[in-house]
Amino acid sequence: MNDCLFCKIIAGDIPSTKVYEDESCFAFRDINPQAPTHVLLVPKAHVGSIAEANALPLETQAALFAAIPKIAAQEGLTNGFRIVSNCGPDACQSVPHLHFHILGGRQMADQMA
Ligand code: AMP
Repeated sequence: MNDCLFCKIIAGDIPSTKVYEDESCFAFRDINPQAPTHVLLVPKAHVGSIAEANALPLETQAALFAAIPKIAAQEGLTNGFRIVSNCGPDACQSVPHLHFHILGGRQMADQMA
């Protein structure tokens, strides 16, 4: 999508700190980290949120799930981590390109919301 921030990051038109890439996924550090490790994992193909994830090829859906433990291991998150995917206004999604926040490196709050 032409004016999607994360599509521009994937294309390299906006700089990011890449931590992982494969054929269908891209991951980079969040610009405003909420934890010592805060990585955003996105599909290279544009879908707006996880509500539209079924529009992605099954291979891409699988690749996203497979990428999460790879990134967690690469980041040394041996004591656990949290995955968040905000979806829509009620969840305060601010960038309308499906993304998974991978958060770790400290004890997370007990309450999720
Ligand atoms: P969400 O609010 O769940 O849609 O998450 C969007 C995330 O994108 C936020 O955590 C932002 O800090 C992050 N973000 C926004 N712009 C950039 C950028 N240029 N590079 C890296 N992360 C970004």
